Parts: sequence; structure tokens; C-alpha cells
Amino acid sequence: MIDFSFTDEQEMFRKASREFAETRVAPFIPEMEKTGKVPPGLVQALADAEMLAITIPEEYGGLGLGYVARMIALEEISRISVATGMMLQVFALGIDPFVRFGSKEQKEFYLPKLARGERLATVAVTEPTGGSDPTGLRTTYFKNGTDYILTGRKCFITNAHIADTVTILAKDENDPKAFSAFIAEKGAEGFSATHEEHKVGMRGCNTGELSLEKCKVPATALLGQEGKGLRVSMSAIGDVGRGGMVGCAIGLQTACLEASVKFANERILYGKPISALQTIQNKLADMKIDLEAGRLLAYRAAALHDKGERSSNEFAVAKYFTTEAAQRAAKMAVDIHGGYGCMEEYAVSRFIRDAFVLGPSAGTSDIMKVIVARWVIG
Ligand SMILES: Cc1cc2nc3c(=O)[nH]c(=O)nc-3n(C[C@H](O)[C@H](O)[C@H](O)COP(=O)(O)OP(=O)(O)OC[C@H]3O[C@@H](n4cnc5c(N)ncnc54)[C@H](O)[C@@H]3O)c2cc1C
Repeated sequence: MIDFSFTDEQEMFRKASREFAETRVAPFIPEMEKTGKVPPGLVQALADAEMLAITIPEEYGGLGLGYVARMIALEEISRISVATGMMLQVFALGIDPFVRFGSKEQKEFYLPKLARGERLATVAVTEPTGGSDPTGLRTTYFKNGTDYILTGRKCFITNAHIADTVTILAKDENDPKAFSAFIAEKGAEGFSATHEEHKVGMRGCNTGELSLEKCKVPATALLGQEGKGLRVSMSAIGDVGRGGMVGCAIGLQTACLEASVKFANERILYGKPISALQTIQNKLADMKIDLEAGRLLAYRAAALHDKGERSSNEFAVAKYFTTEAAQRAAKMAVDIHGGYGCMEEYAVSRFIRDAFVLGPSAGTSDIMKVIVARWVIG
């Protein structure tokens, strides 16, 4: 039997997440849009609401609620602020390598602090050499006594300037086929956050570059086995990173639809609301159909993930569909608003800028199709 309903606990969690987003996240949006900076009070609010603890097992101080719950939280938060959804989704992306590949000592040291928001995490794979081809990266490491020395540059990293704990993917200086994942800590010798990007959308979610200048990390900073780092970082991006983008996308689709319905019912033309016009109704129906299909893909992939089954192909399908659908929804929402859609007072002008940023993050739509084609062909 397939049961498409949420449990009572999940419904309660959705209600709490919605209330949190509407009361604690929404007030920060004007500041985020104006400054493009992460408000410290927002990160604290996420930590206080235990939003960073959702995917961390209870034995390490987390809530152990899993990935359906995370999807619910991201959907509700992104309905109000995609920038906040993105920031939160990448905190969980940064947490995943510790949960899946951390040693007992690494888990005990990092996870309780990450759950409380005392430390913030991210994953740094992308380099100027091209994010679609992680094996082409140029950041190298070599062993020096008991330490590792890392040199290179990472770009487009979410939370680069606010994260304390970064999983870095690097290749062995002496064996370009061997990749390893390391924990780099804020303040480590030779490690710094440099250029900060100014994105067209998701303003107030930090994106930037990280520089590793002969950065020295101890042997205990190795995550997983030496030479097996691609698995550590790419499995985090494949399931948690892409799943997170899906949560952001369905939240944004919902926001676009709600704003459009409200406007279409209030805007009077020819003596009646424009929601009575067939063309407007078609757009609303298209948005609803995309949202319904996207939510099914999203929650199916998250449920598979919670069952411990392989879900990266399902997340690739969901990531492609929902981020493309969010872009379509934002365009239709702006169109429905007529000239008002171009005015900053209307949230849909933010939605369309945010929608564009959903595309490349955690892999472009082209790459999602590459993954799906590989799944089909076998
Ligand atoms: C807002 C934002 C946040 C991000 N956060 C992070 C982060 O936290 N950590 C991190 O490591 N990275 C992060 N990224 C980087 C992101 O993963 C990359 O932007 C993405 O993988 C694409 O890489 P690229 O930008 O270098 O484009 P490229 O890889 O250079 O791609 C250029 C074009 O070529 C196409 N292309 C490439 N390969 C193929 C192929 N095989 N078949 C068909 N077309 C192809 C692409 O689809 C694209 O259209 C973030 C990016 C953004 C925009």
C-alpha cells in the first residue's frame, strides 16, 4: 500500500515550521534584500528553533527527524525566504559528511556543536575550473609528517564567510586520481574566506570564495578514508544538496502560486477580477500542476532517503523538475502581476531573481539530465 499522507507529527512540524517562517524569518527579508548580508539574528533564530538539528541523530544532540522533515522545513521556510532556505539547506549539506563518514571522535566533537548552531558548516567542491567536472579541480594536498597541507581556491561556496567548519575536497599532489575530503576550520593557518559574491537573487544568503594557502590541517581532519573523498563530498551533494534545492524550489513555487492567486482575485479589469480570465486561469493551473508533481517527486525522494535506500537518481529528477518549474512559476507570477511584477514592492520581483539562482546550485539542469540519462541507460 502507498500512503501519501503525512503523519500527525509531520503535520505538526509543518505547522510549527510555517509559523516560524512567517514570524521569525519574514521580518529579516527587507534587511537581507537591502544589504545582501546574512543577519546574525536570523542564524540565531534558526538555531533557537533547532532547524540545524533536524538531520543530526539524537545520540549526537540532534532531533533525528530525517529528510522528509527537512523537506517540510525547507518548503515552509522557502515559501517565505528562499535565501534563508538555501542557507539552512547548506548547513545540513555541511553536516552530512560528519554523519555519514565521520569517525566516532569527529562525530562526538562536531555534531552536538553543529546541532546547536555553535558551529556552522558547508561543503566546498566547486572551483574556477568548473563545478560540473569535480575531478578537474586543482586544489591539492600532500602529507607533511602527521599534517596535511592544502593549496587551492574554491568558488561559489554557500556560507563561505559564516561557516566555521568546511569540508574541502582536494586531490593528492602526487596522484591526481586520488581525492580526499578534509575538515578545514575557520582560523586555520592559511585558510580564509576571500571574495564575497553579489548574486542577482537569494540576497542575504552568503556565497563566496575560500582560499587555501598552504593550509595546514591535522591528520584528524581527514573525513572518511584517504583517497575516497569524492564519495564523501559527492554523496552529500547528490542527496542532501540536491534534496535541499528541491525543498527551496517547491517553497518558491508555492509562494509564486499564492501571490498570483491573491493578485488575480484582487485586480479588477473589465469590471471583474482577472482570475475570471481564461488565460490567467491557465497560468494558475499550470503552476498548480507543476507544484503537485514537484511535491510528489520531492517527498518520494526524501522518503527513500529516510529508508536508507539510494535516492540520488530520484533527487536528480526532482531537482531538475522543481527548479525548472520554480523558474516557470516565477515568470508566470510576474506576468500575472502586469507592470506591478516589475516593482520591488511586490514580492514576485524577488521570486523571479531567486528562481534563477536555484538553477546551477548543486548541479545544473544539464547535469541532472546527464545523471538521469545514466540511470536510464544503466
Ligand atoms: C548560489 C550558488 C551556491 C552554490 N553553493 C555551492 C557550495 O556550497 N559548494 C560548492 O561546492 N559549490 C557550490 N555552487 C557551485 C555549483 O555547484 C556550480 O555552479 C555548478 O556545479 C555549475 O558549475 P559552474 O558554475 O562552474 O558551471 P560549469 O560547470 O562551467 O558549466 C557551464 C555550462 O556547461 C554545462 N555543462 C557542463 N557539463 C556538461 C555536460 N556534461 N553536459 C551538458 N552540459 C554541461 C552546464 O550545464 C552549464 O550550462 C554554488 C553555485 C551557486 C550559483
